[in-house]
Amino acid sequence: MKTNFTKTFSKIFASVIVATVLICGLTSGITAHTTFTPTINRNTNSSIVYITPNGECYHSTPKCRTLRRSKQIKSIDIKEAQKTRRPCKVCH
Ligand SMILES: [Zn+2]
Repeated sequence: MKTNFTKTFSKIFASVIVATVLICGLTSGITAHTTFTPTINRNTNSSIVYITPNGECYHSTPKCRTLRRSKQIKSIDIKEAQKTRRPCKVCH
């Protein structure tokens, strides 16, 4: 009887350890993900595109060949540009 009890006890104890390790691993995994997310968001927010006052498109680079004749090239946030303009076929 004593041996059976010890066996059962150690089985339960082992599963508790496994569960703790799993939860700890999961938590540290989530923590690692949250540290990476803000960096990605910051990059997306600071996306700058280039527009001309009379143009219908926005450009990913001021060196785009359709911008060669434009004297006024303005840099604005991509979110602002998307409201009124479509992406340039050449550089997007
Ligand atoms: Zn372009």
